[in-house]
Amino acid sequence: MNKIELKKNFFEKGAKAFRKITGYGDYCYCCPICKGLFPFQAIKTGVLTMEHVHSEKLGGKPIALTCKQCNSTTGYTIDAAIVNRDKLNKSVEALVRKNGSYEGNYSLKMGGETINVNLEVHNGNVTINVPKKINNPVKLSLLKDYILRLREEGRCEGEEFKLTPKTTYRLCLSKIGDLKTAFLVCFSFFGYNYILNNRLSKVRKQIIKYDDTIIDWYCIPSDEKIKDKHALYLLNNPVSSIAVKIDKVTILLPWFDGPEDIYNFFATKNSITFSGNRLPWPVTLEMRLDFFKCT
Ligand SMILES: [Zn+2]
Repeated sequence: MNKIELKKNFFEKGAKAFRKITGYGDYCYCCPICKGLFPFQAIKTGVLTMEHVHSEKLGGKPIALTCKQCNSTTGYTIDAAIVNRDKLNKSVEALVRKNGSYEGNYSLKMGGETINVNLEVHNGNVTINVPKKINNPVKLSLLKDYILRLREEGRCEGEEFKLTPKTTYRLCLSKIGDLKTAFLVCFSFFGYNYILNNRLSKVRKQIIKYDDTIIDWYCIPSDEKIKDKHALYLLNNPVSSIAVKIDKVTILLPWFDGPEDIYNFFATKNSITFSGNRLPWPVTLEMRLDFFKCT
């Protein structure tokens, strides 16, 4: 199925589910993030866009449609934080754990000079390339003289230098990016029946207002015993809730018969043991609760 057919398919499924759940007369797709309603033309005009989990840049799969505004606003900020976090994690794996390859831009500080370099790491071997184009020639020549002097005087060993990655990200934004991923995974799997529940209002608000703190305690470190990178759980302990494992973090979301505000509930606990049932990870827009029961 090509991209446009897949978008049409998602629209049809979403519009049918939305009408079924809400009884709304017009045949519209409801953006799961802002709850805006969009007619079929929104596909052709590009107002409804495909949402990938993970980001398309990280090889994600299309699992839902969101409106362009939600997709681009969050795309430029919180999704970008996730892409940069992934890059930095990869560089740590390659540099520190000697696992995999990495290529990226760094600044190198040595002998009182700071220059731009390109770092290549492969099987633990590090190559530092110095591109002339993006460096001040005076600084390059001063650093070269410094290194030559070190060599002449036999002082190379133990000489310290500092490499700082050019890639940065805000941790709080990357967490909200994970929250958005978890929310969209649940929308794709359960459908409107789930995400239109009032318990999810604060989650939706947090994704839109990513610079504010609306909810806390939604993100915990993943259980290292779970080997799969992605996993979806319906928890029954300590309370009915949803857990979405996204690599190193697990996002907690409310469930119908859990507390009205599960984040308040989690905030009051010092240590929590989770248990529940694993559900399949969605591979397309499934909306299982809108069309049939899944639990
Ligand atoms: Zn939207």
